[in-house]
Amino acid sequence: MKKVLAYGSRAARAPLAPLTIERREPEAHDVEIAILYCGICHSDVHKVNNDWTNTHFPVVPGHEIVGRVASVGASATRFREGDLVAVGCFVDSCRTCPDCRAGHEMFCEKGATFTFDSFDKKRKTRTFGGYSTGIVVDERYVLSVPKTLDPARAAPLLCAGITTYSPLRQFGCKPGDRVAVVGLGGLGHLAVRFAASLGSEVTVLSTSRAKENDALRLGARQFVATQEPGAWEPLEGQFDLIVDTVSAPHDLDRESTLLRSFGTMVLVGLPPGVSRFNASALVFGNRRVAGSNIGGILETQEMLDYCGRSGILADVEVIRAERINEAYSRMQRGDVRFRFVIDAATIAA
Ligand SMILES: [Zn+2]
Ligand SMILES: [Zn+2]
Repeated sequence: MKKVLAYGSRAARAPLAPLTIERREPEAHDVEIAILYCGICHSDVHKVNNDWTNTHFPVVPGHEIVGRVASVGASATRFREGDLVAVGCFVDSCRTCPDCRAGHEMFCEKGATFTFDSFDKKRKTRTFGGYSTGIVVDERYVLSVPKTLDPARAAPLLCAGITTYSPLRQFGCKPGDRVAVVGLGGLGHLAVRFAASLGSEVTVLSTSRAKENDALRLGARQFVATQEPGAWEPLEGQFDLIVDTVSAPHDLDRESTLLRSFGTMVLVGLPPGVSRFNASALVFGNRRVAGSNIGGILETQEMLDYCGRSGILADVEVIRAERINEAYSRMQRGDVRFRFVIDAATIAA
């Protein structure tokens, strides 16, 4: 075992503070990674607050990890010392079930091992995430980061990026398609960049005008402030695809009327409670409602390679580790453009 420095929370809603955790010695197929940056995802905040009532403390969050290979196990062949690599939301799975074989490891029938606050079945330990100076991961779950990408701005691609890239690929975002992105936060701003880069005509739907300039700068053609009177009517029946990134309760039934016939509304946010849909709005028009959650290893690598070719990166605010708690408060107020990223070099005991 090797001790590494980390930032974590010892009890529900306790502020994050420095702590020391243990990482295993690299096994035959492992890659030991010196972490450079880790993005802060909303699920980190939910886990620390125990909002899903399933957090095990102490918890070290973080699943948007970029770093350099520090050493490789004797049988690891995919990476070499010094390579720029990344780790996303999961670090292991059974590898043999239909979902694993299809490249959807996150839905592994035996349960994927997630990057933090998850049980590592092989080693009977709990996993600790990327708010730390190092991590050891089986090479099969490590991704290669194109050298051309700024590592701090690439970190959010590992969760926010794949979460928005995957639905655009699954539902066939094509040049000329009219795509609506609902909500312009960590997920939404990457959805706009991806959809625009894939050639579609992007409209951003946001509650107020506050983010209009950002939306246009990111590549949107049109911006709609949904709380303004008369905002919705001109949009009815307009979109081939809607990517809804909002996690607050909102009227999904009304949103579904903005789809063209055969259009799809994909939910990637997790609003609490039950969403209601009027069947006739879906039936008359063959409209579809779908959900999408991150992506498998192959698709995540495809996304990173695509970002390498097209230059897509997140807009980030890089912070020192001692500012994590302040970053959490600002995120809960929506005060970030568009992702906080921790500089792992500032994690100190
Ligand atoms: Zn995440
Ligand atoms: Zn599996």
